Amino acid sequence: MDPFEEVNLSLNKASKYTNTKVTDGILEMLTTPWREIIVSCPIKMDNGETKVFSGYRIQHNAVRGPYKGGVRFHPDANHSEVKALSSLMTWKNAIVDIPFGGAKGGIQVDPNKLSKNELYNLTKRYTLSIDKFLGPNTDIPAPDLGTNSQTMAWMMDAYGSIHGYTPAIVTGKPVELGGSIGRDSSTGRGVVFIIDEVCKKLKLNPKNTSLIIQGFGQVGSWIAQIAFEKGYKIMAVSNVNGAILSNKGINIPNLIEYYNSNKTFDGYKNVEHISNDDLLLAKCDFLIPAAIERVITEKNADQIRSKIIIEAANHPVTPEADKILESKNIDIYPDTLVNSGGVIVSYFEWIQNLYQHQWEIERVNSELQKIITKAFIEVYDNAKNKNISFRLSALTIGLNRVIHTADLRGYI
Ligand code: NAD
Repeated sequence: MDPFEEVNLSLNKASKYTNTKVTDGILEMLTTPWREIIVSCPIKMDNGETKVFSGYRIQHNAVRGPYKGGVRFHPDANHSEVKALSSLMTWKNAIVDIPFGGAKGGIQVDPNKLSKNELYNLTKRYTLSIDKFLGPNTDIPAPDLGTNSQTMAWMMDAYGSIHGYTPAIVTGKPVELGGSIGRDSSTGRGVVFIIDEVCKKLKLNPKNTSLIIQGFGQVGSWIAQIAFEKGYKIMAVSNVNGAILSNKGINIPNLIEYYNSNKTFDGYKNVEHISNDDLLLAKCDFLIPAAIERVITEKNADQIRSKIIIEAANHPVTPEADKILESKNIDIYPDTLVNSGGVIVSYFEWIQNLYQHQWEIERVNSELQKIITKAFIEVYDNAKNKNISFRLSALTIGLNRVIHTADLRGYI
């Protein structure tokens, strides 16, 4: 199904559980992006030829604050996908109750095929093409797939070439340019705060709780490190090339040392080497997909043996798999809540930039814990009260907040 249609179907479903009756007109407002910007970005390549790349910035809804969302550089970035992701940002920001609307941007390009100079020129052209619609109180981009702190430094520089020094125009910048301390570990840290809260509800002791993590990148490797420090048993981890498993638990600091020097799990001793498919099916308390989308589908959902799924990646479970897992009583904590740590700390970065001030790491982590824990409790209680899934509960809370603010502002 078209990704944007899929998001709107979920919204339609959640709109049955909101505090206010959602009329057809309100639903249309919630499902229609407020502004869709499509730009052509011509750049001169290193070989002297000119190449044109398609760029998008979709501003979905700004009723609760400036538009906020990442920019991805990916060969599959297209209009519908970016629209769907922009809508999800509206709901994610509302679910964790930070004062932002939702947006997403993208350029259809494989960043691995461009030189640093070409990427710089493309980022600059894209930023200057959409600059009228950006601003620290209008729309604040951040990194996503295929982009990073360097991309944000270039975006900040391009925007600043017209408007003057404006660090609050992007988040996820290098710390030297006003990035927040703790932003790199924030998504993984947020995921572990959610796991802590689930354990409290289920009266589980971390020492006797096993985790399996798919993906060992920016999110997965931090989940592994932070959860290990808290005493959880990390039974298995993986990257795109394969997985390792140990029933006794993996020593994560030792593994990180090995991984950093070898860039692979191959040859790591005293563990079982298994496939990524088998990793998903191993028995554990918490299964944490933290790699890519659509890894749990109708093909493997029936064989999943974990008790709980924590969606650290975006959209790792398909709607068909969702139904199968529900029938097996496997609880799923949704991506919109679980991986919100990154955007929460982006919010802190924006605040720090507006005040030209830098917070200590302790403050960043404790404020993150406060916000994500509050959101978890709201999603949990609402699900129990209404007897609905955590996914539906989270979306309903987001919808309630957006509808209420739209009402206050006179939109409905
Ligand atoms: P990353 O590129 O740093 O890491 C991805 C990891 O997944 C790598 O270890 C890679 O080897 C592995 N992987 C890739 N394809 C795989 C496959 N087919 N099977 C198994 N493993 C595979 O990405 P990331 O930033 O860690 O993001 C991971 C997920 O979390 C994505 O869905 C992303 O959208 C989501 N997310 C990330 C952030 C963030 O702050 N980075 C915030 C919110 C959501």
